[in-house]
Amino acid sequence: MNTRWRQFKKLVPAEDFYECYHENKPQLCPICHGKLEVGSYHEGYHGCVETYRQCKGCGYTRQWSYGTTYLEVGKWFINYFYSTPDKEVERIEAEFAREIVKERNRRKTEIRKYYRNRG
Ligand SMILES: [Zn+2]
Repeated sequence: MNTRWRQFKKLVPAEDFYECYHENKPQLCPICHGKLEVGSYHEGYHGCVETYRQCKGCGYTRQWSYGTTYLEVGKWFINYFYSTPDKEVERIEAEFAREIVKERNRRKTEIRKYYRNRG
């Protein structure tokens, strides 16, 4: 583990650790407004090596682990890495934001249908 970490630390810029500072902020799911499960793992003096935000209600997930970012919403999911170019990260994050809106609207429609069917 320590060897793996040392290799990783050489490659990852310090800015990638910023998410660790948000771990104590109360956060709500952007899709269903449920309470997000938020947590992080710390490894000795290395500090934060993993952080996640996850909704048990609808499956929304944003996880960062050893330089890999994992995003999931609905049936859509994607990974990007510390080596992913900025432009590509921007594109992925923009797509993630769009998928959140889509999923939110899809759920709204489903709820409407549910009530319509019940008269
Ligand atoms: Zn949710």
